[in-house]
Amino acid sequence: NYDAVALGEYLIDFTPLGLSDAGQPVFERNPGGAPVNVMAAMAKLGMKTGFIGKVGNDPFGRYLRQALLQQGVSDSGLIASDEAHTTMAFIHLDSQGERSFHFSRKPGADQLLREDEVNLAMLEGTRIFHFGSISMTVEPSYTATIKSVQKAKEKGALISYDPNWRPSLWEDEQHAREAIHAGLRLADLVKVSEEEIIFLTGQQDMELASKLLMERYSIGLLLVTAGPKGSFYRMKDWWGKVDSYSVHTVDTTGAGDGFLGAFLHEVLKLEKPLHAWSEEELCGALRFANAAGALATTRKGAIPSLGTIEEIHTLIRTGNV
Ligand code: ATP
Repeated sequence: NYDAVALGEYLIDFTPLGLSDAGQPVFERNPGGAPVNVMAAMAKLGMKTGFIGKVGNDPFGRYLRQALLQQGVSDSGLIASDEAHTTMAFIHLDSQGERSFHFSRKPGADQLLREDEVNLAMLEGTRIFHFGSISMTVEPSYTATIKSVQKAKEKGALISYDPNWRPSLWEDEQHAREAIHAGLRLADLVKVSEEEIIFLTGQQDMELASKLLMERYSIGLLLVTAGPKGSFYRMKDWWGKVDSYSVHTVDTTGAGDGFLGAFLHEVLKLEKPLHAWSEEELCGALRFANAAGALATTRKGAIPSLGTIEEIHTLIRTGNV
């Protein structure tokens, strides 16, 4: 049985590396996809994790399978398909260092995951099932996602959801809202960023926005990540903020996934349902998750920047990396 299983997109991110001798931009091949990053973060902390998704039966797909195994995440749910190529995303940095993603997908293999291809045995005994919204942008991966969440929930898994709002991936905003709302209705634990919660509720004030979202979807625990400021939480009638740690940030890629993976690790370690947690336990778990997120910003990349338990504890104890 797995501690956690995630379903979603898994693709190649081409990250800009500068210019070649001929003055042309050079891109580096990296594994991409938030659900995998969350599982990799948990695996690094010693948890047994697995991933369900689809890549192409091509060299990039084989590289992604190898990368998954290297992170200690099971590939039992990873399908290699002849129907389409592995999805690719090219990342561009503007003059402020802000990232934008440009996809070559028409469709890419990740969007073609079908309900009948999902490895049901992985949903059977998993303690946590995690998903995002990118697999909900189109069919058939929309139905594969929703049906898998429902099955895992029936089997007693805690459902974790990161809406991961990427406007360019959706046909239109209304469609995005409907799919994200379907995800929110199924989730026990939701992690959003400040920008996402403003988009979802139309409310700038975090205390009000979180209350609105929580009540509308009867979410058990809502976490709002806020970069260097740390994270907010809302659970039962508690509302509060836990500060992060001051670090030398070089690349924020993967901070949110490292944060969530670390938080889910704490959820499993406590071994009791969310509703039985005390506020003290929640804040302790968030200190651990904030430290993991902060640590992830001190190194480049998503997966290589994830911290170990020792590194996270050192940051909490000493305030230094
Ligand atoms: P992403 O940008 O990876 O999609 P996100 O927006 O949810 O995800 P962030 O808010 O950037 O993620 O980071 C998650 C958590 O990591 C924050 O809540 C915070 O605790 C910690 N963190 C992120 N950036 C920093 C930083 N520069 N300094 C200290 N802590 C940070």
